[in-house]
Amino acid sequence: MNQLSQTETSWQERRSSSPIAYQAVTIEDQFWAPRLQTLREKTLQHIYKQMELDGHFTAYKQDWQPGMRPIPYLFWESDISKWLEAASYSLARHPDPALNALVDEAIAFLASLQQPDGYLNLWFTQVEPHKRWTNLRDWHELYCAGHLIEGAVAHFQATGKRTLLDIACRYANYIDTVFGREDGKQRGYCGHPEIELALIKLYRATDDTRYLNLARYFVEERGQQPHYFDSEARARGEDPADFWARSYEYNQSLVPIRDQHEVVGHAVRAMYLYSAVADLSRELDDASWLAVCERFWQNLSSKRTYITGGIGPSADNEGFTADYDLPNNTAYAETCAAIGLALWSHRLLQVDTDRRYADMLERALYNGVLSGLSLDGEAFFYENPLESRGRHHRQPWFNCACCPPNIARLLASLGQYVYSTNTTEIMVHLYMQSTGAITVGAQQITLRQQTAYPWDGTIQLTIETEQPATFGLNLRIPGWCNTAHLTVNGEEFPIEPHLHKGYVRIERAWQTGDNVLLTLDMPVLQVQAHPDIRDDSGCVALQRGPLIYCLESVDNAAPLHRIRLAETTTLENHFDPTLLGGIVVIQADATTLETTDWGDELYRTTPATSHPTRLVAIPYYAWDNRQAGEMHVWVRL
Ligand SMILES: [Zn+2]
Repeated sequence: MNQLSQTETSWQERRSSSPIAYQAVTIEDQFWAPRLQTLREKTLQHIYKQMELDGHFTAYKQDWQPGMRPIPYLFWESDISKWLEAASYSLARHPDPALNALVDEAIAFLASLQQPDGYLNLWFTQVEPHKRWTNLRDWHELYCAGHLIEGAVAHFQATGKRTLLDIACRYANYIDTVFGREDGKQRGYCGHPEIELALIKLYRATDDTRYLNLARYFVEERGQQPHYFDSEARARGEDPADFWARSYEYNQSLVPIRDQHEVVGHAVRAMYLYSAVADLSRELDDASWLAVCERFWQNLSSKRTYITGGIGPSADNEGFTADYDLPNNTAYAETCAAIGLALWSHRLLQVDTDRRYADMLERALYNGVLSGLSLDGEAFFYENPLESRGRHHRQPWFNCACCPPNIARLLASLGQYVYSTNTTEIMVHLYMQSTGAITVGAQQITLRQQTAYPWDGTIQLTIETEQPATFGLNLRIPGWCNTAHLTVNGEEFPIEPHLHKGYVRIERAWQTGDNVLLTLDMPVLQVQAHPDIRDDSGCVALQRGPLIYCLESVDNAAPLHRIRLAETTTLENHFDPTLLGGIVVIQADATTLETTDWGDELYRTTPATSHPTRLVAIPYYAWDNRQAGEMHVWVRL
């Protein structure tokens, strides 16, 4: 079989599916439900208040002149749009007149700024109107349009109102007249990808193929010669070689994406671009786009991802560096980048039901994304290092506040990541106590999931259907799980013969009351890193279920670098309902190095004495919610 036919075969045999909308999934567990309540009751208001304090809304209501306060930020508007998206998701399931009024007010504000030709950008309308479309490389103009479109689609689908959608469509229609390969149009694209995936959302919401074609144009034009960012710089009277980021790798435009082989540049930009590529693969039924994603996936997942699902180790480019370069203390790992990884993984999962994608979605979600938000819902990490000397803390807000509304919109729509379906199958990707109203073929199914996941690996699924319905129920067996056990209506169901790409498939004529019991063994694992990750040499990370653990000073007696995990230790775990909202704590025997008898010498040939201690580890997502101190994910042996 030659290469092409192999590709064609695997493309034909893949199992694509569509997510069950978040509105149809009720999350009612002890892990997520309280956090989502905090998000609704505190985080959304907190973000709005911070935007008000910044002057997000007022700055643009006047003809801003240099020297005036507040000083606007080029892409403040994207914060507003992401907040609108998050608030819309929340309103869909939890009506809230006060929040709804704020949403309507924000939409009216945006509407007041839309120009007669459809253009809508706060900065380039109020502050520098003569510079419209003159620096796509740096100024996030189309990026802001993308977030406006995403917010509009969310608002429309949540409320049925077209107020924001009509604004976004007018703007997108105008953008379609400006950019493209046709005569008279500019062959530009945005330095920060985002509008591509947003236009595909808009296409799906409106069925207008103009938006899909424009998204495809933006993806395919990127990196073509003559290079648009070169010509654009010359038009501004600048030397293109003076680009502050030095290389177009920074924004994934050095060469066309089909000629790229490694994940490079700014991590969030990469994830948003790859998300659009995965969507194009699906919408155009084109295997070659999936092949492009697979190259990046292979590079990212096998060489460039932190164990937390954080990506982009360097603050210098907010992005990627080299294979196995994953330092812990200086890890940048922006919250938005882990969110982007979750978004991309979720899109790939829709193209093919493959555990690799769902495992990555889960890894990012429970660790590198969730760490971005404090337990009280009002403070955020921008960077998510895997080691801290005690000075890294969540902040109420940032000058560049991309992360807070980004995590809000992801969590507010969490339900859509749990289940998906096609005409003959239901997929269960994530485990959380929930109820999904699912249409499979012509059948309406209610699927109830009872579980204490991620603290416990027992998952009970119950089917409700008006009449017997034949479909395949596919359950993910997570990659971290070495032993799983399954029964259907109390009878043993062998997993291995029915396992396909990490999902066990149970096909039968389902009836109301049918139940499936999946048990995932969830021991504490000692995870080793690839020997070429310098910082992790001689260390292990503790993992239980999908959660990566860490040590914090507040629980451990010594400076954390002096603690050694005992080689033959038993890793104990117990649920502590009083700690950090209720968590499973890991404890183990360890030793700690002494300095009391060391003296003044800086170096000596005799090893330090050590004494036994007890090591205590908590889930990484929950760190920095108590008194300040050190934190380590990787524990020395
Ligand atoms: Zn961010």
